[in-house]
Amino acid sequence: MTWEGKIIRQSCVGNPQCDSHSVCYADEPVKCFSTLIGMCALWATCAGASSASAPAKTLPPDIFLITIDTLRADHVHCYGYADGSTPALDALAKDGVRFTQAFTPSPITNTSHASILTGLLPGSHGVTDFAVPLSTAYPTIAELLKARDYHTAAFIGAVILDSKTLAPGFDRGFDFYDNFPEHASTKSRWGRVERRGMEVVAHAEKWLSTHPAGPHFVWVHLYDPHDPYEPPAPYSQIYKDRLYDGEIAYADSALAHFVGYLKSIGKYRKSIFVVVGDHGEGLGEHHEDTHGIFLYDSTTHVPLIVKLPDELSAGNTVTAQVRTLDIMPTLIELAGGPAPDRRDGDSLQPYFAGKSEAGRPAFGETDYPLRFGWAPLRSVRSDGFKFIEAPRPELYDLQLDVAESNNKYEPQDARVQKSRSMLAEVHAREVSVEASKDGSPQDAASNSSSLPDPKDKIDEQNLLHAAMIASDDNCSADARKALEKVLALDPKSPTALRQLGELELQAGDFVKAAQHLRGAMEVRPDDATASFYAGQALQKAHDPAGARDALETSLKLMPGQLPARLLLGRVYLDLKDPKAAEDQFEAALLLQSGSVEAQLGLADAQMTGGNFADAAKSLEALSKAQPRNATIFDLLAKAYLGLGKKAEAQQSEARAKQLRGSSSGQR
Ligand SMILES: [Zn+2]
Repeated sequence: MTWEGKIIRQSCVGNPQCDSHSVCYADEPVKCFSTLIGMCALWATCAGASSASAPAKTLPPDIFLITIDTLRADHVHCYGYADGSTPALDALAKDGVRFTQAFTPSPITNTSHASILTGLLPGSHGVTDFAVPLSTAYPTIAELLKARDYHTAAFIGAVILDSKTLAPGFDRGFDFYDNFPEHASTKSRWGRVERRGMEVVAHAEKWLSTHPAGPHFVWVHLYDPHDPYEPPAPYSQIYKDRLYDGEIAYADSALAHFVGYLKSIGKYRKSIFVVVGDHGEGLGEHHEDTHGIFLYDSTTHVPLIVKLPDELSAGNTVTAQVRTLDIMPTLIELAGGPAPDRRDGDSLQPYFAGKSEAGRPAFGETDYPLRFGWAPLRSVRSDGFKFIEAPRPELYDLQLDVAESNNKYEPQDARVQKSRSMLAEVHAREVSVEASKDGSPQDAASNSSSLPDPKDKIDEQNLLHAAMIASDDNCSADARKALEKVLALDPKSPTALRQLGELELQAGDFVKAAQHLRGAMEVRPDDATASFYAGQALQKAHDPAGARDALETSLKLMPGQLPARLLLGRVYLDLKDPKAAEDQFEAALLLQSGSVEAQLGLADAQMTGGNFADAAKSLEALSKAQPRNATIFDLLAKAYLGLGKKAEAQQSEARAKQLRGSSSGQR
């Protein structure tokens, strides 16, 4: 006999001997997932298992997690959008369970994905901005499935999820994580910043074809709907007036390719699929062009579709409110394991059978505004209303006001008071998790009430975002124009000042660069990078005293910066202070003992101070280690001259000349 579709009685659900009973999802005769996926080790003790023949040992199901970036639920065809075409998503919804009210806790990519992978709210997992490492304290879906003998791989569509740069720790638990090349060979955004969906799925399909042994857990990230909206042909033509929808249709075609491939190798029917948006897109609602700043439904309401093995519960629609936090516990349970105790989400299994179940409160958090010096936001969406904690708080009755345009906030409103206590509870939990992690709770939300309300800053943010995209695409003129507009709105915008400073530095206008960067330092005295750039600009603008002050400031904030130490050493040489220069080069050597630049700088400083003997000694050693470096022989010649060794000096000079001559043809 086969176990497929076997009806398990209630006695199995509560049977203490059945180690998989927790994955059965109802209190009446139902199909048991654990048996469907061959995980019910003690099947014979389950009611209904009267047949004497034991089931053949089958593998747990393959699991495919597809995250589609920047996908608003209301721009997907099966979510009622008549103007778009998403046949692959529609087909998965037909074979699976479609959640109409799913919400992400975060409107930015890395934070939202960290919540999907860990089942934790942003304040708990701590990835509240790009490049913040995902703490090892919390297991991810990949780690938990790997521990259950899954073969795991991740295929990302954007460099912001690269685990070597902007998403450290995201590769934990993956046998293979498809990072971007360290040195991109192209100036175009494709392959350097972003991969088209078809390339992402091609990588995934290739990996699957070369790693046929299952079970597999594969995460595929399709970045296409993220701005800039540049779908390839024919979507660029079909959707030329609605390029965002064109990107969605294109991403859907990549999903169709992937599903088609899995069907062709017999890996569709028995597999679990979760398809979800990481966040939505403002599209101008509430004046927000893109996403990240606000917590309205435009950027937090996402599509969520779960296809189960053998298309169990196919076509069911769940209207109860759920969260993307619920994905991790769901997948771990479906694979037969217990979800970790410390989690903010819960398994979605109770909803699969299509019975009416209560919705779950959806919390929202964004610290992204802090990046620009504006107040972070917190929200709770529950019982048909949404409360947003902000310098000017907001309350919306979602039954009457789907667009969240009629703010009903009153401090005494019972819904406001309930929301505030729910947020306080979540906050206390997050702080205790943070404290247990490293003893230093992050508390971005508190002490920020004096910061500007992001609602007053959204026009600036749209321009800053446009400048960032222009810089990514090497369009510095467009970036400069947008940043100058920001400064017209707010002459003290630290982000605009710093970015304009960097642009002028690259363009060679050092005086202008220094002016902007000094402005940035005034507004944000704790920005070590702005001070470092200011030091660079001032040195090049022939203001060594100003450069020294900026670099000292930068190094006080962040002492481990090798380039800043090296530059400060050079600046002290310009200031005719060889002793101070020596100190900096020695400090640089403590940071990186083999640094040739630091050794050359130190020798230079020693000679400026009249110490030719020590300089010659270290340069001789260096010339043996690096016999093809002409600069070393230049300095060695200088040292020999200082020591009165004319013949050796001439020899070194000749060697330097010879090295330059032999290498000039190759440059
Ligand atoms: Zn995203």
